[in-house]
Amino acid sequence: MRTLVRNGRVASEGRVEATDLLLEEGRVSAVGRRGLGPVDRVVDASDCFVLPGLVDFHVHVADRIGRFELADDYESGTRVAVKNGVTTLCTFVTQGSGESLGDALRTVHSRAEGKCHVDVAWHLTPTRFEPADWQEMEELVRAGHRTFKLYTTYRGAGLFSDQARLEELFRRLGPLGVRFLLHCEDDALLESVDSSALDLSRASSHARLRPEAAEVASVEALLDLAQRCAVPLHVVHVSTVAAAERIRAARERQDVTCETCPQYLWLDEGWLDRPDGHRWLCSPPLRGERARFRELAREGVFDLLATDHCAFRKADKDDWDGKDIRTVANGLPGVGGLLHHAWKLWGDNPDRAAAEVSLLLSRNPAARLGLDSRKGALRPGHDADVVVLDPNGPERPVRGTESDAYDAFPGFTSTLALRHVLVHGETVVTDGGLVDGGVRRGQFHPHHD
Ligand SMILES: [Zn+2]
Repeated sequence: MRTLVRNGRVASEGRVEATDLLLEEGRVSAVGRRGLGPVDRVVDASDCFVLPGLVDFHVHVADRIGRFELADDYESGTRVAVKNGVTTLCTFVTQGSGESLGDALRTVHSRAEGKCHVDVAWHLTPTRFEPADWQEMEELVRAGHRTFKLYTTYRGAGLFSDQARLEELFRRLGPLGVRFLLHCEDDALLESVDSSALDLSRASSHARLRPEAAEVASVEALLDLAQRCAVPLHVVHVSTVAAAERIRAARERQDVTCETCPQYLWLDEGWLDRPDGHRWLCSPPLRGERARFRELAREGVFDLLATDHCAFRKADKDDWDGKDIRTVANGLPGVGGLLHHAWKLWGDNPDRAAAEVSLLLSRNPAARLGLDSRKGALRPGHDADVVVLDPNGPERPVRGTESDAYDAFPGFTSTLALRHVLVHGETVVTDGGLVDGGVRRGQFHPHHD
């Protein structure tokens, strides 16, 4: 089957050009307007941008976090993703107590099997470090798992790694090609906050319990450690101006990338002051100074934007006693809003928005994932994951999830209309809706048997 995507403005790898795409056997086979030969099918992209499929680098689905099951499983999570242009979703495998990391990965694969509308990749979080665990980690790396996610906080949940542990991971796995994703909040600094001075019934106390200084201190320590160990570092969900500026300065001397999320661009800590402010609880917390933060995004400080999608059902988000904000389910929905919230940063200049989105939501996350020979660009040989986007559709609400969760961005709207979304050359979405209820042809990366 030869499919021609015709008459669009193709935005790929930061450039925008009026041209056509030929797709064959699930791959892009040619870019241009001459000599493409006969085709079986035409996708009309008139008045539209044509983008490489988007990658959400940071999503939580089909998992239990604290007391609650997440609202989205692989089906609903990848459904709202693909309806909004995301064709690769990166989520997490965390080693549970009493299981190996490989067992945890197999469990997650079985949860995802047959449910995914888009491709899925997993970042791995080891939590046990016996000799057999190290051996298995090395096997998983050799099998193609190259991104490990680690935490400098969440001691109670068993996720915390101290500096010595991180150094051991960096020194043993770094030479094998692993890239390290770090959640940076300095646990000792969080522990030192005097909670007796706070009114814990108020959601705004959450921001005092997890102060900006904890992120900055942890980022500084990790930059230093990663440089000494000569390993690539990726800092997830940067929320503070100061940490972002530290990372920008460090780029001169080491391989460091970072992400931020739409909630840190567009929502400020004022949302926590509402009577229902607990519904905006996420970690790191919402902060002040957001106009400056958006400026940093436009200046290119963030290599990629990702959502940290972590949707809880309404009843679960509201399930607390009103006395201690620390008992509230911690996370916000987001994957459905990624494209819309990113685009808005350059909303008065559609060509620029399309070019930036092709980098921040596609090429750069694909590269950090190690999938840049197949994803992140519309060039011959790459997967035919293609988004045909009309920037001038009807105005509609932006929704992070289709599940029964409170939306984090009430009142936010978008005119971006998803005319077509193709995954491996197959049309999965037309005019914003799933074709045939969804074909669920998403692949796993790395491939497994
Ligand atoms: Zn997360």
